[in-house]
Amino acid sequence: MRAPIRVACLSEHASPAALRGGEDAGGQNVYVDQISRHVAGLGYAVDVFTRRDRPDQPVVVDWAPGVRLVNLPAGPAEPMLKDAMWPYMPAFRDAFLDFAAREETRYDLVHGNFWMSGWVAAELRRRLGIPTVQIFHALGKTKRRHQGAADTSPAGRIAVELDVVQTVDRVIAHCPTERAELVEDYGADPDRIELIPSGVDLANFWPVPQREARRRIGLAPDGPVVVYVGRLLPRKDVRNVVRAVALLARDGLPLRLLVVGGDAPTPDPIATPEIGALQRLAAELGVADRVIFTGQRQPSELRDYYGAGDVAVTTPWYEPYGLTPLEAMACGRPVIGAAVGGITFTVLDGVTGFLVPPRDPAALAARLAQVLTQPALAARLGRAARARMEREFTWPIAALRTAALYQTLLAERAAALALGVDAPVEESALAPEPAIVHAGDHARRGGPRVTRRAAVQRSRR
Ligand code: UDP
Repeated sequence: MRAPIRVACLSEHASPAALRGGEDAGGQNVYVDQISRHVAGLGYAVDVFTRRDRPDQPVVVDWAPGVRLVNLPAGPAEPMLKDAMWPYMPAFRDAFLDFAAREETRYDLVHGNFWMSGWVAAELRRRLGIPTVQIFHALGKTKRRHQGAADTSPAGRIAVELDVVQTVDRVIAHCPTERAELVEDYGADPDRIELIPSGVDLANFWPVPQREARRRIGLAPDGPVVVYVGRLLPRKDVRNVVRAVALLARDGLPLRLLVVGGDAPTPDPIATPEIGALQRLAAELGVADRVIFTGQRQPSELRDYYGAGDVAVTTPWYEPYGLTPLEAMACGRPVIGAAVGGITFTVLDGVTGFLVPPRDPAALAARLAQVLTQPALAARLGRAARARMEREFTWPIAALRTAALYQTLLAERAAALALGVDAPVEESALAPEPAIVHAGDHARRGGPRVTRRAAVQRSRR
């Protein structure tokens, strides 16, 4: 029997083991978890590498059949915001190389996630010649455009992204908008971008009858309910939804808004400042009693929250992709979403829900009124939504497309090796890297390049 193809999936801040819904734990964690499981189901051996953030964490965890989770030491073994992790990425790379050398493992493919692991993936591509796929999940230029001075990304992010795009073999785009941004903002070669939409777990998200869902989550059975599920960050603009609810309440519609997400399982405005901001806004607009915050919920509980609603809403300023609309649609609920990013691709306007301009509470209120006062329309949109998810947006489909991409890269690599081209670049020929922290630097400053070269050589064996 042939040995399985070994994939190193790098995801420095987004571990599949992290609780979902907090500030830095959202769609990327879900993606890494689901894509690694489903790719492993196709016969690949996947190691997911993430940064160790607790001292008692084992280095290797058997996470799912064919998937190991490897917690690499890189910086302090404690939780850290992702924007603080950049200085530790050389340490992350070195810890990866040390792990591979210790285990005497040669990875056939690298699958980088987000720009920081993208930097490591590009390093491995250059140094070891391993075929490399990159998915960004979010792009620095887009974030800068929308958040301006509020963008806390490290200064080097965009330069790194530009380099990664040119270095890796393929970039996966979640949706056509992301592909266009990669081409227009980053000069990516369109032929080296692969469109692979992420999916939704149909075994977890299914249509629960509304009365049953409301009973299970302890919500009164009557009256229209709008649901938001997701991280609670200003850019998700739940404030826009609260404003729309206030407009409708003023017009006499007896609706409630359920807000699911946050950094704690109870709605705590200290742990999640955005909850505080939303509570203040709801009070100012006179709708405090109509907005219900639940706090963070885990994926296995969410179908009851989506199911309790008549309609799901998400109106972010921008959205690289957005898994929550898929989840709501899989639960048979229509989605009213902002016409931005991935939402314009996943939500079919007038078919599975409606698209509205972002930052426009009146437009959102008009569509909400339509869906909430026309149950037959809501039911039709919800059925079409579920059917669309079953047909086109499952993780097995996403994994098949990803595996096909892996096979293409392996074939290209074999052809390049047969022709004697595409050899790894020697360390001496590499550009100097930013002055950041390497594995062991805390104890042994001054010798990182030696450490790193030794690690590279070990892993080439
Ligand atoms: N999520 C969760 N519990 C919560 C809030 C969010 O499990 O309390 C999940 C949600 O179901 C979705 C993910 O976090 O799978 C958010 O992904 P999305 O792509 O919508 O947005 P991102 O967080 O990546 O910006």
